[in-house]
Amino acid sequence: MIPGLQQLSILPSLLWHPRASRESVMGFQSRQLRRVIANAYDNVPYYRRLFDHAAVKPEQIRTAADLVRIPITTRRDLQKQPLEDLLARGVDPKQLLIQPTSGSSGEPLLVRRMWWEQRILGVLRLRGLAQCGARYNDRLAIILFHNKPARRRSVLHRALAAVQPIKVHEIHCLLEPEAILAALEKIQPQILSGYASSLALLAKVVSKSGHLPIHPRLIISGAEMLTPLAERQISETFEAPVYDTYGSHEFGSIANPCKSSGGYHVFDDGLVVEVVQGGTPVAPGEHGSLVGTSLHAFAMPFIRYQLGDIVTRGPEGCECGQPFSTLREIQGRIIDYFPLPGGRRLHPYELLEVFRKDAYKWMYQYQLVQERRDRIVLRYVTRRQPSHDEESQLRGRLSKLVGDDVDFTLLAVDHIESEKHGKFRMYKPFVDASMSQASTI
Ligand SMILES: [Zn+2]
Repeated sequence: MIPGLQQLSILPSLLWHPRASRESVMGFQSRQLRRVIANAYDNVPYYRRLFDHAAVKPEQIRTAADLVRIPITTRRDLQKQPLEDLLARGVDPKQLLIQPTSGSSGEPLLVRRMWWEQRILGVLRLRGLAQCGARYNDRLAIILFHNKPARRRSVLHRALAAVQPIKVHEIHCLLEPEAILAALEKIQPQILSGYASSLALLAKVVSKSGHLPIHPRLIISGAEMLTPLAERQISETFEAPVYDTYGSHEFGSIANPCKSSGGYHVFDDGLVVEVVQGGTPVAPGEHGSLVGTSLHAFAMPFIRYQLGDIVTRGPEGCECGQPFSTLREIQGRIIDYFPLPGGRRLHPYELLEVFRKDAYKWMYQYQLVQERRDRIVLRYVTRRQPSHDEESQLRGRLSKLVGDDVDFTLLAVDHIESEKHGKFRMYKPFVDASMSQASTI
């Protein structure tokens, strides 16, 4: 049996950890890691095979340092498995919340969680928000590409959700900036959260209009790289500090910005973060690929899972005295708007929304490349050959979205190359010297 509700008993420790010693946080990490590893080996066929093949016994994994014995798993490795091989025995898939991964990989994978696993990640996220300055009863307006988990079933879960210390209001990021600002004006959030590009675009519209509709106390940016220029523009326009948070669908919160060092604190009690190059951990100051092991995933474990992001490892402890390990920099999360002819702009998520539902059945991996202002190519690797109808329907819908003056091409390819440093970019907007800063900031 996998651990159940009793896992919620760790919540007080999670809330306490920012004030705890490093030894205490790392002790918690090791204990939780052993639970996760034992569950994965005992209950999840994929990990049982992986461990056996590498001749690793669960009892050999005592702390994060032992994880190198386990082979790295990529999103592609998980995609190849039938669902039942990824889920723990005894879990009813119908009871799980489902979240599709999006963001920076171009390879869809559905992440499944028990409601209490989702709740634990929620508490970690709240803790991160509180460290940025969020307070009890704050209204948080989050501008996002909708990716809501499935309906919550448990009565207890609903009751817990009702006493959320922060009230969350969601606004779709693909609305026109004016509509988003109007919605924000009604909500009057103390915390404004969204993708760096969405926030930068809003800042531009606000500074042009001269009307500041909201007065947030703090701004949280995530999912994309926050450039220094965008940070300054957003912060100056909304007259509030901007915090760049780092998370993913697979792991929830990964790292939060440190107010004094300029780096990031890793949620060492939410996941084990390794930074590796060629499978070997790098030294502080060096960059590599982020490999994570979730400490709260039992229904669908993620063990030594390569996220695809490139990060720079920071010092082991932070100069500010927090007990967490650090990342110095997070690279490779850039999703920019596509600049179209006539000054129009298109967020790549708009294209994603068109094909994410139907095309995922036959599309295995994809990349949107804007070769010219008036030409976008969707390169894709197929899971299976699409029918003529499927392909022409998709082409029709995408062409309609981009307009007559943009050539939209579908191109089936055998594989899609990674960028230098090994980072795969799902969206590549067109950049030329004459392009104004406004469309990408
Ligand atoms: Zn710090």
